[in-house]
Order: sequence, then structure tokens, then C-alpha cells
Amino acid sequence: MAATVIDGKAVAARFREEVAREVAAMPSPPGLATILVGDDPASAVYVRMKREDSAEVGIESFHHEPPADVSQEDLRTLIESLNGDDRVDGILLQLPLPGHLDQDPLIGAIDPAKDVDGLTPLSAGLLAQGREALVSCTPRGVMELLRETGVELEGARAAVVGRSILVGKPLAALLLAANATVTHCHSRTRDLAAVCREADVLIAAAGSPALITAEMVKPGAVVIDVGTNRGEDGLVGDVDFGPVSEVAGAITPVPGGVGPMTRAMLLVNTLQAARRRRGL
Ligand code: NAD
Repeated sequence: MAATVIDGKAVAARFREEVAREVAAMPSPPGLATILVGDDPASAVYVRMKREDSAEVGIESFHHEPPADVSQEDLRTLIESLNGDDRVDGILLQLPLPGHLDQDPLIGAIDPAKDVDGLTPLSAGLLAQGREALVSCTPRGVMELLRETGVELEGARAAVVGRSILVGKPLAALLLAANATVTHCHSRTRDLAAVCREADVLIAAAGSPALITAEMVKPGAVVIDVGTNRGEDGLVGDVDFGPVSEVAGAITPVPGGVGPMTRAMLLVNTLQAARRRRGL
């Protein structure tokens, strides 16, 4: 039986509408600052989309595009000035940064109260301790998609493939907080297929096309494909979609699954940061 295909676009649209409604009811709009350094075309597209998304729901955006050869000190000064700018509730430093910049201290310079990407050590630490934190957008979106499927996470076996600080690690922490039994896989995992086959919930976030084949999926499992790989056939995920959808119970497509949720969750996080900062 073919799996239910989870429509990330439709779920994301609901979140966007909700954010727009709540923003309209606020005394002044939340503000999102975006910082784009360098000339990576994909980063430029992502930032443009984030600004368009913000405008659509009434979030004010403050865009900064320092020169590609900006110094570490000047970029840090910019971040600090945004930390101190009361109109700004969220700060998004688009990654990756050009090679001459040291990424970690710059991420660490972002005020955790404005860390809408959930990347600062404080946000990551709070999440690891199971405490309230701003959670990075993709993992947060994945959790909303899981909620949408109605899958019972409590006691379920979940496998996360990928351990980046942006996706894999926060996702594993969220699943653990939801009382799933989490196995965290990565490029050194032995017999990935056997581990995946045990999972009621399987999340692929490796950046490796068709890594997850039908033989690796437990019949009826929920499969969430975070991967976005650009190839000759356009955008593909980490999951071999056709064959896997014959085995899984529910599956996200690429495109149209996790991607739209990532975008929507940035709006949700910005609203959440604004409310908290303003005591609303
Ligand atoms: P990353 O390169 O930082 O991390 C990849 C992780 O996957 C690593 O931990 C690595 O150990 C693991 N991995 C790689 N190959 C593997 C293999 N063959 N077997 C097992 N594990 C393997 O990447 P990332 O930033 O976490 O992103 C992962 C994927 O998700 C990429 O395709 C990225 O483009 C995509 N992504 C999508 C969205 C979205 O909104 N849809 C958001 C962020 C990332």
C-alpha cells in the first residue's frame, strides 16, 4: 500500500496564516534582521525568500549585506548593534560565511533572546537540557510534520541520520524530549540499514541522494526527508522516494515537505522571540 504523502506546503501555509493573524494583533510588528555576507547564489536566494516570507505575514525585515571581505570585527560589531536595536526581535546570520571568517564566535555573538535560528550555544544547551529554547527552524518544522501525521512518539523508536548542529542534533534532542527512543546515526555508523529498519520514525538529514532505500524502511514507518540535493534531475532528498513510499506509512516529498516548514518556522520563531522580549 502506498504511503500517505505529507503535504508540507499545506501545513506551512496554516502556520503562516496563524503568524499573520497574530502579528496583525500586535501593537507594533516583530522585526527580523538578516545578514548576508559573500556572493553564494543559494544563500542569496534563501535570504530573499526569508524577507519575502516576513513581508507576507507583516514581520518587518532589516537587511544587511556587508562587503564579502568584511572583517571579523566589523561583522561582530554589526551583530552587536542588532542585539541592541529594539526594533529587531530576531537575527539571522546566513550560513555558510566566507572562509576568512570564524563562524562560531560570530554565532555566539548573537543575543540568545534573538537567536531565531537556534544556533547559539545557549539555545543548544537549553534544548539539550530539555528546557524552553528557541529551536532551529528545520527540526522544529519536522516535529510539526510528525505531529501532523498523528504518529505516537512516546516510546516509539526513532532513527535520525545526520548529526549537524543545524538539523540532526536538535532533532534528536526534540525527539528525546517527546519520549521517543532515539538512535542517532551518522557517516561512521555501522550497518545503517539495520538501524533504520528498526525505526518507527526515520529522519534522513545526511545530504546524500537516495541514501535511504526501501530495504532500510520498516513497513508502515513515518519517513521524513530533510535532505535537499541539487542534481541533474533537480532537487532530490535523501530518500529513494518511489520505492520507499511503497513501504512507509507516511512520507514527506522533496520538494514540498520539510523545506516549506523550515521557512514557516522562522516566522514562528520570530513571533515567539518578539512576544518574549516584549512580555506579550
Ligand atoms: P551536514 O553536511 O552538516 O551534516 C550531514 C550529516 O549527515 C553529518 O552528520 C554526517 O555524518 C551525516 N552523513 C552524511 N553522509 C552519511 C551517510 N552516507 N550515512 C550516514 N550519515 C551520513 O548537513 P546538514 O546541514 O545537517 O543538512 C543535511 C541535509 O539537509 C542537506 O541535504 C541539507 O541541504 C538539508 N537541509 C534541508 C533543509 C530544509 O529546509 N529542507 C534545512 C537544512 C538542511
